Amino acid sequence: MKPITRRKFSSNIAKGAAAIALTSNIPMAYACTPQNKKSLGIALVGLGSYSNGQLGPGLLKTKHCHLAGIVTGSPEKVPQWKEKYNIPDKNCYSYEDFDTIEDNKDIDIVYVVLPNAMHADFCIRAAKAGKHVICEKPMAVSVAECDAIINACADANVALGVGYRMQSEPSTDRFKEMIATRKYGKPHVVTADAGYVSRGNPDQWRLDKSLAGGGALLNMGVYAIQGIIYAAQELPISVTAQEFSTDPSYYNDTDETITAQFKFASGTVGSIITSHNAKGDRIFASCENGWIELDKAHSYGVIRGKTSDGTVIDSGPQSQQALQMDDFALHILKGAVNKAPGSMGKRDMIICEAIYESIAQGGKEIMLTLS
Ligand code: NAD
Repeated sequence: MKPITRRKFSSNIAKGAAAIALTSNIPMAYACTPQNKKSLGIALVGLGSYSNGQLGPGLLKTKHCHLAGIVTGSPEKVPQWKEKYNIPDKNCYSYEDFDTIEDNKDIDIVYVVLPNAMHADFCIRAAKAGKHVICEKPMAVSVAECDAIINACADANVALGVGYRMQSEPSTDRFKEMIATRKYGKPHVVTADAGYVSRGNPDQWRLDKSLAGGGALLNMGVYAIQGIIYAAQELPISVTAQEFSTDPSYYNDTDETITAQFKFASGTVGSIITSHNAKGDRIFASCENGWIELDKAHSYGVIRGKTSDGTVIDSGPQSQQALQMDDFALHILKGAVNKAPGSMGKRDMIICEAIYESIAQGGKEIMLTLS
C-alpha cells in the first residue's frame, strides 16, 4: 500500500476520496488503512527476548490485531516463528529487504523491537513504506531522532505509538484515576523506582552506549519518569540529577544508577531512582489526606497496589502487551485515543536529556518546557 502523504491526501480529497473516509468508522487521518479489516496485521522487527517472551505470546491474545509477519537479521529464527505463529514465507523479511514490506497488504503495523539506537532508522523506513508504527521504549536515543520519527510518520500519514505497555494497564489506570479525582487529596510528594540487575553479560548491547544511547535511564528510567507524571498528574517544570556507580568497572560505558528530583508548577515535588544494579518497581504518591502506592508498578506480572485506607488495587493477570497492541489497533480502526503517542516518547526523551545535562553540570537545576 502506498503511503498517503499530506500533499497526496489533500489532492485525494479534491478527487472525492474524502467521502469514502467520512462514510466509514476509520478516522480520516488514516484513510489509507483498508476499511474492511477487522484485525490489523503486525510485523515484529527484531526477534529478541521481548518479542519472543512477551509480544509474540501477547499477539495470541489480541482481539484487534494479530502477528502477520516478522523481520529479522537472524534467518535461523525464521522456521520456528513461522511454525509457532503460522506465518507464510512471503511475510518473512530480512533487514535488507524490509522496505519491500510496502507492497504487503497483510501488514498494517510495523513494531520495532530492536536495540534503541536502531529504532529511528527502522521506524522511518516503516513509515516510508506506508505502515503504521509502534516503536519500543525508549523511543530513540535523542530528541532529534524522536522528531525525525514523528515527522516521517506525519509525512506518511501513519499512526505512531510507543511501546509503553503501562499506559494500557488497568491497575495503573486506577492509580491515575485516584490521583486525578483527588481521592486522597492533592499529591504533595511523588516517587518512582525502576531498575533491575543487568549483570552476567558485559557484552550485552544495553551496556554499549553506541547501541543503547544510555544506560539505566533510557532502559528503566523512562518507566520511573512516566510514574511520577502519573502520580503528580502534571508535567514537571524542572529537574536536578545525580549519577552514581556501585561498580564502575562493569558499568563503564553507560549510566548504572541515577537519581533525579522534579518540581511541578502546583508545588508538588517528585524524585526517581533508576538502576542497572538494583531492583526497583514502585510508584508512591503521598497526598494531602493519605497515600497511594503501586508496588509492582512496571513489571510484566500482575500490577498491584494499596492505599492508606486499606484499598487494594489489583486488576488480576492479563497480557499488558495484548492490551497495549489492541489499544493501538483500535486507535487506527476506530479513532480511539492513542494512549502512547510519539509526542509522549519525545517528551520523556526531553526529560532524559535534561537529566543527563543536569548531571554534566554537577546537579544544576534544568528548566523544562513540556507539553
Ligand atoms: P534483545 O537483545 O533480547 O533483542 C534484540 C534484537 O535485536 C535481537 O533479535 C537481535 O538479534 C537484534 N539485533 C539487531 N541488531 C543488533 C545489534 N547490532 N546488536 C544487538 N542486537 C541486535 O533485546 P530486547 O529485550 O528484545 O529489547 C529490544 C527493544 O525492546 C529495546 O528497545 C528495549 O528497550 C525494548 N524493550 C521494551 C520492553 C517493555 O517493557 N516495553 C521490555 C523489553 C525490551
